[in-house]
Amino acid sequence: MSDAADELIDYHCHLDLYPDFEAQYRHVTAERITTLAVTTTPQAWPKNLELAAKSPSVRVALGMHPQLVGQQANETALFARYLPETRYVGEVGLDAGPKFYRTYEQQKVVFESVIRLCAEAGGKILSVHAVRSVRDVLELVERHLAGTSNRVVLHWYSGTAAEARRAAELGCYFSINRMMLAKADAVLVKSLPRQRILTETDGPFTQIDGRVAVPADVCSTVAALAECLALDVATTMGLLQRNLVRLESGKD
Ligand code: MN
Repeated sequence: MSDAADELIDYHCHLDLYPDFEAQYRHVTAERITTLAVTTTPQAWPKNLELAAKSPSVRVALGMHPQLVGQQANETALFARYLPETRYVGEVGLDAGPKFYRTYEQQKVVFESVIRLCAEAGGKILSVHAVRSVRDVLELVERHLAGTSNRVVLHWYSGTAAEARRAAELGCYFSINRMMLAKADAVLVKSLPRQRILTETDGPFTQIDGRVAVPADVCSTVAALAECLALDVATTMGLLQRNLVRLESGKD
């Protein structure tokens, strides 16, 4: 058995959206890649829960993706029904980008109900999408989750450095993918508190070397992150493992 410090972490991946999703589940299990399998609709919950039950490496998150709000009937009741079955919530959040701005007010209603349900339940870890909406997301986090045992991981963070500082003050973590380590954005990654960093792929929505990214690709993310932070790879792996343990211990 390998040491925990050798294990990769993909803390935001849509395993169920790969055409061969069952093989993806088997792969991360065999490779012992700690994977947060986010989902986009509560309807996907039972299938993912069943697959994740067979894998010690996969945590499955109950999701309601902001980009799908408006496309489906209100699924908040279904979300509320499944929430007691999991500690992990995602993908949830807000998207004020041009393609989804039309549903933004509706997204805010949905996301606030998600946040309220988590606040009532306690002990949840949320993987949060915040495109052009970091200020609104943080406002809701501050209003409902500050001082609770819930933890927020901002996925593919794209806000300003000042908003990142505020997020960190509110206890947020950041899951970092390869795109965020491209030159221009690496400056921001460098400025994040190191004890709040995790890695992710956001597969299959991202590409690496011209093909769809898979969880094992976090290996190259760790290498790029190590370079960005001027650390060696082993030190970076250790840092990420400690961050994961701290986040999931709920003691931070
Ligand atoms: Mn995603």
